[in-house]
Amino acid sequence: MRHYDVAVCGGGIAGVAAALAASRRGKSVVLVEKQCVLGGLATSGLIYIYLPISDDRDVKIAGGLTEELLIRCQEYGPFTIPEKWSGIKGADSGHAGERYLCCFSPAGYELTLDRMIRESGVELRLETTVIGCRCDGTGRLTEAEIFCAAERETVSADCFIDATGGAFLLRMAGAAVFPETNFNNPWLMEVNDHSRSRYYFTGDLHIQPLPIPAEEGSMPQVLSAAELQEFCRRQYREMRRHYDAMTPERRKSCYPVHLPTMPQLRKIARIDGLAEIRTGEEGKFCPDSVGVAADWRRVAPAWETPYGALLPKKVRGALAAGRCIDSSGDAWEIFRVIPAAAMTGEAAGVAAAMAVERNTDPAQLPVADLQARLNENGIILHIPDKNN
Ligand SMILES: Cc1cc2nc3c(=O)[nH]c(=O)nc-3n(C[C@H](O)[C@H](O)[C@H](O)COP(=O)(O)OP(=O)(O)OC[C@H]3O[C@@H](n4cnc5c(N)ncnc54)[C@H](O)[C@@H]3O)c2cc1C
Repeated sequence: MRHYDVAVCGGGIAGVAAALAASRRGKSVVLVEKQCVLGGLATSGLIYIYLPISDDRDVKIAGGLTEELLIRCQEYGPFTIPEKWSGIKGADSGHAGERYLCCFSPAGYELTLDRMIRESGVELRLETTVIGCRCDGTGRLTEAEIFCAAERETVSADCFIDATGGAFLLRMAGAAVFPETNFNNPWLMEVNDHSRSRYYFTGDLHIQPLPIPAEEGSMPQVLSAAELQEFCRRQYREMRRHYDAMTPERRKSCYPVHLPTMPQLRKIARIDGLAEIRTGEEGKFCPDSVGVAADWRRVAPAWETPYGALLPKKVRGALAAGRCIDSSGDAWEIFRVIPAAAMTGEAAGVAAAMAVERNTDPAQLPVADLQARLNENGIILHIPDKNN
């Protein structure tokens, strides 16, 4: 059995950030991803917009890996980063649409993320699924069972990070989770000579969000295997229906070139954490904040992130990162997107590394020490003062 300081399950944006952060603190890290590419929904789901890292006053609210991953997403592709995201004081606060438009090529980003992980020394296991786990008598997660190419293997680690998007590892370990209603609105890549979507690569090549009627697309929860199968079937049925409705002639100039290879669920499961980020907590000061997330939907105050939202109540020796941390209602909308996933991933990675160094549980770490390390990484812990 191989042993690692830190095992990260799930290679989406949160998992990549977590693995990089732990590895940069000198820890042996394994990153387990069930697909053959990195990026999770951000790449396999053809989501190709890196949302704002600036608040309602155009002040930068995220540094560290959140900013690094934003800059690196431009490596392969035709897009550029809008000037406003620099967070320069006095920048135009008109909030024109471009504040919200930093696109990247999903396939290009896969190459970049792979390079960053390879260069970091993280041991990467692609096409490998976490299928089980074991806890000791105190509820501490100690081992994960992984599966690749008809081979099963057990890995042990001093600390685990669940960055699977749906808290799958922590659910297997016995953690309580909460679901949320999803609506089916798949994004796909198509050639369409008639529409010039905002999100185009070349003249005719677009990312196209498909609106699906609520009665077809809405599901109150997608937790069980049966519910997931149903969601995936509906997604494909509706994408077929969209193109079937066109005349054969029209289909020659409007057709899909790439479909999402992950179910486009916005919210699968959030953990029952030591702290819950709730609706209405925008602008609130959290003494134990590990980072700040912007409201990507409207011009509104940013959100601080209590460390406890990353810590499951029932399972020890583990943290959650990304869209499965404990944020509910309106807050889940804020924390489920790419920049917030990067921010919570980095916080989880640094916390895991520090817990290993001190031979303690992540929940026992003095938050001030964690915040000091995050600060060194350039992370902004609190909503910048109005005068900054
Ligand atoms: C339609 C739609 C549009 C969106 N638009 C935007 C947008 O414009 N901008 C934006 O910022 N965000 C957007 N989002 C949200 C955003 O893309 C994701 O929420 C975010 O990328 C989540 O990152 P994550 O790392 O937390 O999770 P994920 O991306 O879900 O990553 C989890 C990873 O874990 C892997 N995994 C899961 N289970 C296992 C297992 N058992 N073993 C091993 N690996 C496993 C998965 O394969 C995946 O790679 C959108 C989402 C949807 C559905």
